[in-house]
This record gives sequence, C-alpha cells and structure tokens, in this order.
Amino acid sequence: MSGTLTLTIIKPDAVSKGYTGKIIDQIIGAGFQVKAMKMIHMNEREAGGFYDVHRERPFFKDLVAFMTSGPCVPMVLELPAGNAVESFRKLIGATNPANAEEGTIRKQFAESIERNAIHGSDSDENAIREGRYFFSDLEMF
Ligand code: GDP
Repeated sequence: MSGTLTLTIIKPDAVSKGYTGKIIDQIIGAGFQVKAMKMIHMNEREAGGFYDVHRERPFFKDLVAFMTSGPCVPMVLELPAGNAVESFRKLIGATNPANAEEGTIRKQFAESIERNAIHGSDSDENAIREGRYFFSDLEMF
C-alpha cells in the first residue's frame, strides 16, 4: 500500500501574506491530519540542503533566496486512507500556478512558478527523508 505520510511547507510568500490559516484549513478539510508543525526561518544552509536535488538547476540560487526571505511552516501530514503523496499533490496543483487546476491551493494562493505558496513531497521515500529533515525527533520516522 502507498504511504500515509507526506511533508509540506507553507512557503514564505504565503506566510507573509497571511494565508497560513486558510491553507491549513483546506488541508484539514481534504482529510489530512497535522502530525507535526512548526514555524521556522531557514538559513541558506537549511534551504539549500532541503532543495539539494536542484543544486545544479539555473533557478537554485533564486529558490534559496526566496525560501530564506521569511518564515515558513513545515508540517508532517497523515492521510489515514493512504496515497498521501499523490492526493496532496493533487490538492496543491501544478508547480506553475498558471497551469494549476481551479480550486487547488496554488491556483488560489501562488504568485509564480517560484513563489508558489506550498511544497508537497513527490514520493513516499522523499516524504520520509523530508520529514526527518525538519522533525528528526519524531518517532514516526
Ligand atoms: P514541486 O515539486 O512542484 O515543488 O516542483 P520542483 O520540485 O520541480 O521545484 C521545486 C521548487 O522550485 C518549486 O516548487 C518552485 O518553488 C521552484 N521552481 C521550480 N521550477 C522553477 C523554475 O523554472 N524557475 C524558478 N524560478 N523556480 C522554480
């Protein structure tokens, strides 16, 4: 069975515009349970480490500057029925909000392909890796 966990981050653009509560409300409304949550202001090492797979991409430097521009809210989410990663990526919509479906979180709250309001893990393996990255003390990992 596919996993019940995923990792999300409400990104600095959405936090600074006051969308944190509205976004969490939609996540819970979609059936996810918040298992862990905190507000942090990442430094370059932390943001760069999180997006390490994108280190060689042309947008990496801008992405790290954006993710360190203000506080963000990482959360571990559980979908008891399973398929958490795929269901959550459907809820948030395409990376570029211009291509995101109506009603998705990115369609409603994102500004651009970079300042796109929210992160969602792209595999069960990465959900665990990313969960550990922010919540190393959690027994569930
Ligand atoms: P995600 O899984 O939908 O978040 O997308 P990716 O893993 O491909 O990219 C990670 C993050 O990098 C995205 O959520 C955006 O914030 C940013 N990003 C992705 N593609 C681009 C791009 O072409 N230009 C810029 N400036 N940022 C991008």
